[in-house]
Amino acid sequence: MDDVFEVRAHHLLCAFCAAAGCETTLAGKDVTDAVTAAFNANPCIPVSLTADVDSARVPYTNIHADDPQISEPGFAPRKRDYAGRMRDLEVLRRLGLQPNSINSAFDIVRLLFRNISSLEGICFYSVKPSPDWPECPNARLDSFKKLSADGFDDYYSLHLCRTLGREFEGRGPYSLMPIRDTAAMDRAKKESCEAIAEAGRLFIRPHHLLCLCCLFGSGGMGTPLEEDNLVEIAAKMRQEPEIPVTLVEGCCMVCDPCPAFDAERHMCHFMFVKDQLKDLRVLHRLGLAPGTTLPARNLFKLLYEKVKSTSEICGPEATSENSLM
Ligand code: SF4
Ligand code: SF4
Ligand code: SF4
Repeated sequence: MDDVFEVRAHHLLCAFCAAAGCETTLAGKDVTDAVTAAFNANPCIPVSLTADVDSARVPYTNIHADDPQISEPGFAPRKRDYAGRMRDLEVLRRLGLQPNSINSAFDIVRLLFRNISSLEGICFYSVKPSPDWPECPNARLDSFKKLSADGFDDYYSLHLCRTLGREFEGRGPYSLMPIRDTAAMDRAKKESCEAIAEAGRLFIRPHHLLCLCCLFGSGGMGTPLEEDNLVEIAAKMRQEPEIPVTLVEGCCMVCDPCPAFDAERHMCHFMFVKDQLKDLRVLHRLGLAPGTTLPARNLFKLLYEKVKSTSEICGPEATSENSLM
């Protein structure tokens, strides 16, 4: 596992303010640069969004006394930073995350753009600032609102990301996160389709068998998709129904041209944990262990026997839209 990157919860928003052009964030340039560099280098870096919850653990009877904890170096400034602490906790509440819990950068940013559309209620309020509750001078510029204002749902459309690639750079989540280059995806599409055409064995993640069924059901089998290799895999199985298919837990031959696919880390950024659970659910229903190999024909016979509907695996009762799982 990669080293955990720690950042105060509201300093992540400061990094977005910096990305939107703010040069005087409360986090400071060193912090916002470090966030940008870490998230860009590894979009799935484990991140702990911190909040100083321990500062509330000094017994109330000692709060103004000569308490050893209070006199510890650095404790008094921590205690005084209640406005920053409130911002940290507001961000974490919106994300539904516990302070100091660890999640991937990609998932955190996705939650951020899903659950926060403005800095109001985090960095500024309808209540006027006061000497005891000062406000960040940048707060009412609401840079985050500008970044998230143009339809953030589409930022995770596989089709749009495949089509636009780096045209998304600097917009919404991609002001901090990398996005795959269309030329690289074009190359991956060509090479992986050639590999599928020549393959003597297919490697498929189990829930992609169901995706094949969805695509077939929606009449989408006619034209290959730019963003994945489902149609090519289906054609190969139709031409060679006895071809051995090995069921793999994780990314597979379908994934190479997908904007969510990270070839270096061999993982799906967009749906990593959710899809792993779907894979295991399908294997469980089939009574097969990861790594099992069956002829394509037998595999689909078993699938139709054991799984009656895709909703058992990916329907609203089986997945939680608003959680990371
Ligand atoms: S407005 Fe909020 S997020 Fe932006 S720099 Fe100030 S404290 Fe950070
Ligand atoms: S509903 Fe499930 S099986 Fe169908 S395309 Fe989506 S992920 Fe695949
Ligand atoms: S990378 Fe993820 S979203 Fe893309 S095809 Fe593979 S599993 Fe599906």
